[in-house]
Amino acid sequence: MNSQNHNSRRDFVKTLSAGLAAGVAVGGFYSGSPAHGNDKKSLGIALVGLGSLSTNQIAPALQKTSNCHLAAIVTGTPEKEQSWASKYNIDPSHIYSYDTFDKIAGDDSVDIVYVVLPNSMHAEYTVRAAKAGKHVFCEKPMANSVADCQTMIDACKAAERLLGIGYRCQFEPHHQRCIEIARSNDLGAMRMIDAGFGFKIGDPKQWRLNKQLAGGGALMDVGIYALQACRYMTGEEPVSVTAQETKTDAVKFAQVDESITWTMKFPSGVIAQCATSYNFNGLNRFKVFSDQGFIQLEPAFGYTGIQGESSQGPIKFAQVDHFQLELQDFASCVLENKQSRVSGEEGLKDLKVIEAIYNSIRNGKTVTTS
Ligand code: NAD
Repeated sequence: MNSQNHNSRRDFVKTLSAGLAAGVAVGGFYSGSPAHGNDKKSLGIALVGLGSLSTNQIAPALQKTSNCHLAAIVTGTPEKEQSWASKYNIDPSHIYSYDTFDKIAGDDSVDIVYVVLPNSMHAEYTVRAAKAGKHVFCEKPMANSVADCQTMIDACKAAERLLGIGYRCQFEPHHQRCIEIARSNDLGAMRMIDAGFGFKIGDPKQWRLNKQLAGGGALMDVGIYALQACRYMTGEEPVSVTAQETKTDAVKFAQVDESITWTMKFPSGVIAQCATSYNFNGLNRFKVFSDQGFIQLEPAFGYTGIQGESSQGPIKFAQVDHFQLELQDFASCVLENKQSRVSGEEGLKDLKVIEAIYNSIRNGKTVTTS
């Protein structure tokens, strides 16, 4: 590692250590009160899109958070209005459709809008939420293109609202411990990372297989976790990417990628070898090889059951609710007016690499990314 890279890694370590302890340093990201002039202790969250993730993970997590709560819902399905209202005690005045969504501007019970829609809709609802004066938390992948990510960042900046992306693993203790070991330099120089995440996707009619709605296939949906892990383990951005796709079912995967393998080179010389797939189960891991040892998680990216080990010994923590932790962190960023460690800029950096990966597949060449 040359000294310039060493320094940039050291700077990143400082930021990360502060970030792990208490969010990234106070930056004064917006003026005035986070919550419409109220000194709220618990911020209200509006969930946009009441599909699988909102139903099974986010709403239950919001029953456990101490500094934020479910305050409103936005849905296009009238039957869901009734069931969610009674289950979570939501008054009809805090229930919106996609058509009435902009009226949320006048709803002081809502401080944060959480966008949990198909990927192509993230940009539109983030921009509309920011224009309505709300802070925005948006699911991954941030959007379908770098250009949309930039539009989202600009809209939140113009409205002086915070933007965060649902990178839940960054709040999970096994992942945090791996980052800590990597940054301590106890294992010497990092040399290579092997990372992958995939699963066998079912229903061929779902939006995840529709290019317009999903933006891409396995890479956009789950490969992004492997990519993120390489970025937060190294604390660096890749300088070049080489990728190839394999398609075994040209009908099911007519519009989106089925399996992709890719390599990334990082400025310090680390190489990453990554894979993602919608065509088989079991790929769910990362391993970091350093001069004097290794760090690994397998399984690495699920909601439960993460297991870790390094050459220093087992990496073991109690089960946590990833969504509870990420939402608590974002609410405290809003309350304390500080940048989120999973900011819009972080989401944009992933989309830059994702676009380079698709570009490399199209052109059959290595793509330079910085
Ligand atoms: P889902 O299909 O279960 O839910 C999507 C919701 O969007 C549904 O309520 C649906 O009615 C609504 N919707 C509105 N317009 C739609 C349209 N034109 N087509 C299809 N649905 C439409 O999806 P999900 O699994 O809840 O995923 C939602 C978002 O959350 C995605 O961006 C996904 O990548 C992300 N996600 C993140 C994680 C994580 O671990 N962070 C896990 C799963 C999903």
